[in-house]
Amino acid sequence: MPINNSSINIAAQNDFIRARGEWVHYFIGLKCPCTGAVMMTGSNLSDPNRADINCQACGGLGWVWQDGGQILGIVEGIMQQKELLLSGIAAPGDMVFTPDLRYTLSDYDKIQLTWPEGIPFEGELITRGSGATDNAIYGIMSVGPNGCITIDPKTGVVTTYALNVDFTYSGKVITWQGTHMPAMGSVYSLKYAALVDWICYAPPQPRRERGTNLGQRVVLKKKHVVFNGV
Ligand SMILES: [Zn+2]
Repeated sequence: MPINNSSINIAAQNDFIRARGEWVHYFIGLKCPCTGAVMMTGSNLSDPNRADINCQACGGLGWVWQDGGQILGIVEGIMQQKELLLSGIAAPGDMVFTPDLRYTLSDYDKIQLTWPEGIPFEGELITRGSGATDNAIYGIMSVGPNGCITIDPKTGVVTTYALNVDFTYSGKVITWQGTHMPAMGSVYSLKYAALVDWICYAPPQPRRERGTNLGQRVVLKKKHVVFNGV
């Protein structure tokens, strides 16, 4: 007999997730060693603000992700979990994820949804590099008509660049082809549906209902929000 009313009803919870859940891609977040404040021995304190901006692994974020495979869970919009909004733990645009009970997610783990249409994204400003390619923040799932432009602020004149004529994309990489392209070092605006990297925030609160562990509830925030535009 349990001495309290806490029990983990794994079968019931897993049945619920199997019925309503979907597969997502899970990545385990680890602190990048480039951020370590080196101690003589033992544990090194990590300060993400000290990440090496030239680090080839994290690009200065201070975090790297290892593939954790596909896991099953329930993805919900934040409006289904209004108390998280009201408490300030979550903000509009966040999502909530309840993983299969076999998994415990922690802060800075990462989730990608496997929806082929991607997530509507406000787009981003990208500086044209010197090579043939530039990198976007997220994987590009689709680019709408007139979704890539430059503007001359002096005249307001808009120049558009056509998908599959002036540029193509694959994952996060934009490849320019031909001669009609933004000048090196200039900034262009790209609007696309994104394979968003969702960064996990696990609020430290239990979820129990009548003694049953309902599983973890993780707030998912878009990576560019968590890392302030990176
Ligand atoms: Zn690093």
